[in-house]
Amino acid sequence: MTGENRATTAKAAETTARREVIETALAMSRRGLSPGRSGNVSRRWRDGMLITPSGMAYEELVPSDVVFVGADGKANGKRKPSSEWLFHLAVYAARSDMHGAVHTHSMHAVVLACAGKSIPAFHYMVAAAGGDDIPCVPYAAFGTEALARHVAKGIERRNACLMAHHGQIAIGTTLMAALELAAEVETLAEQYYKVLTMGRPALLSASEMAEVLERFKAYGQKAQNKARD
Ligand code: 13P
Ligand code: ZN
Repeated sequence: MTGENRATTAKAAETTARREVIETALAMSRRGLSPGRSGNVSRRWRDGMLITPSGMAYEELVPSDVVFVGADGKANGKRKPSSEWLFHLAVYAARSDMHGAVHTHSMHAVVLACAGKSIPAFHYMVAAAGGDDIPCVPYAAFGTEALARHVAKGIERRNACLMAHHGQIAIGTTLMAALELAAEVETLAEQYYKVLTMGRPALLSASEMAEVLERFKAYGQKAQNKARD
């Protein structure tokens, strides 16, 4: 491949990645997971990430609105990056296995987060976030280093956490996986909120949740795909 061809291919790959960020933000919005202009989406890119611009309507975004932010925190683009670029970058630094992050203000996640409640193992699907609870990290103002520190701690051992008086963040090996998890967290938050209206539910034990996590490894088409590979 000539140098020129290589540059064209690299540019096309970056445009595809920028489109993926926009498509995910639109899907998040259409699924009712983030009212108005709230929430933001990023994917790992090169030594940093591609992230939605701050405060823009998702329907209006074109690929050049998505902002590249390097690992050093330097933004490169015609727009200002999401005000939450610090915690998105902190996620990629803390979790080398993760490549997409979705932050939402989804209704029931916000309700629990405003009550300062983590989601315990009231239902086995809590294991979808990677453990036996979905923690709620302490409050800090949006866009601050303090919030980035809280979020980085929250996702150290889980693929999602609630953020007190704010919302939730879900991460994934792909952007699609991060969005699916954000939707699952919202469903679990709604279910847990409803269960709480009838009193404190019994919780699954650590060993019951460990069994679910084990069974998740072969859930769906995973084992079959492995056999076919
Ligand atoms: P941005 O539009 O700057 O991404 O902010 C939305 C948000 O949810 C802040 O927490
Ligand atoms: Zn937010």
